[in-house]
Amino acid sequence: MRKLPFDKAKLEEISAKWPTPFHIYDAKAIRENAKRLKKAFSWNKGFREYFAVKAAPNPHLMKLLKEFDFGSDCSSMAELELAAKVGNVGEAIMFTSNDTPAAEFRRAWELGAIINLDDITHWDSVLEAVGGTDGSSDGLAPKPIDFCDRLFCCRYNPGPLKVGNSIIGKPEEAKYGMTREQLFECYSRMKAAGVTRFGLHAMVASNELDPDYIIDTARMLFDLVVALSSELGIQFEFVNIGGGIGIPYRPDQQAMDIANVGDGIEKAYKETIAAAGLKPIKLFMECGRCITGPYGYLVARVLHIKNTYRLYAGLDACMSNLMRPAMYGAYHEIVVPGKEDSSETSVYDVTGSLCENNDKFAIQRMLPVLAPGDLVVICDAGAHGHAMGFQYNGKLRSAELLLESDGSVREIRRAETLDDYFATLDFSGL
Ligand SMILES: *Cc1c(COP(=O)(O)O)cnc(C)c1O
Repeated sequence: MRKLPFDKAKLEEISAKWPTPFHIYDAKAIRENAKRLKKAFSWNKGFREYFAVKAAPNPHLMKLLKEFDFGSDCSSMAELELAAKVGNVGEAIMFTSNDTPAAEFRRAWELGAIINLDDITHWDSVLEAVGGTDGSSDGLAPKPIDFCDRLFCCRYNPGPLKVGNSIIGKPEEAKYGMTREQLFECYSRMKAAGVTRFGLHAMVASNELDPDYIIDTARMLFDLVVALSSELGIQFEFVNIGGGIGIPYRPDQQAMDIANVGDGIEKAYKETIAAAGLKPIKLFMECGRCITGPYGYLVARVLHIKNTYRLYAGLDACMSNLMRPAMYGAYHEIVVPGKEDSSETSVYDVTGSLCENNDKFAIQRMLPVLAPGDLVVICDAGAHGHAMGFQYNGKLRSAELLLESDGSVREIRRAETLDDYFATLDFSGL
């Protein structure tokens, strides 16, 4: 049974002020985890985690992570603005987008972000968006931009060279990144345009629990840096191994030992970058899930118990608060505070109220016997949880709360109201 950072009495106290459902994040645990991550990579001078904003796009969480010098990994206009709002600008932003609108390249450029190109054609898009030229144009283009102080990165897709992982799928079927040949061409074009500062990126896994997969990805990128450096005569400043470190959603799964991953990547670094005599390069990652995922909880209450062909526990939360079970069939552990030690159990489908039959947090789950009014805590909702919420069926997104290290609770996002829901409609003239 999962150990929670609050008991039933504390949750009742919180829900007197913020009615269920709500998301609550454990600040102390997030801090401890951030420290562990930094320690695992302390061998690498300049190591930096860029928190994947999409996992939990809340400025208060981003600010908490900034205490550890975590930057922001952004892939949309809103995420760029959020980063700027918490003071993550310049090279504290990794702009890893795909199919990118020009306005977003422009904004990323204005903010001084590290721009990570998903495709070889995106170099032209950047040039166009920021009004630069690569020197090969017809003279009608705006005057050249000085790229030499800006960091640019390319996203590599190894295709069939790398075996896929279950969520992200086979690399050759993934829409992200460039082929090896395109990488060489893109870097040489950037070099010709005056770019002098380079990084290399790949992200080929999602929710991966095998440390070797992450270590092998780093090694693959280090090898590629060695090849690119010698063939093109350019110098790399960083390798970004992406996100994708998994968390143990199921009770029988083990958390990845991050210290072990750090050691494995250090060994790969020594055998490649260091052995080739290259200048030291920085290791970046852009994890989301493993940074906040295990430390966020969706707290709801049982509204109804229904006994038909199955036994149903209907909650006051629904899939608009947590999409993962409906979307991926994902497993999320459920704890019933106050009934943790109950010996009486029943098998439930735990549902929400959406008119969709996949609106279920758990299917045929053994739980303590439930009654209306019971508090229910859905674990591991701290990443890709609230963030994925939507308003289908007129369901509103819940509040987000932060359980501070001193035990106090702070609202970091209010719950939506019907006025929010109707805000984009004009009822006049009906
Ligand atoms: C989603 C995403 C991440 C974060 O992935 P996690 O699985 O949450 O670690 C990082 N980088 C990119 C480009 C992404 O799309």
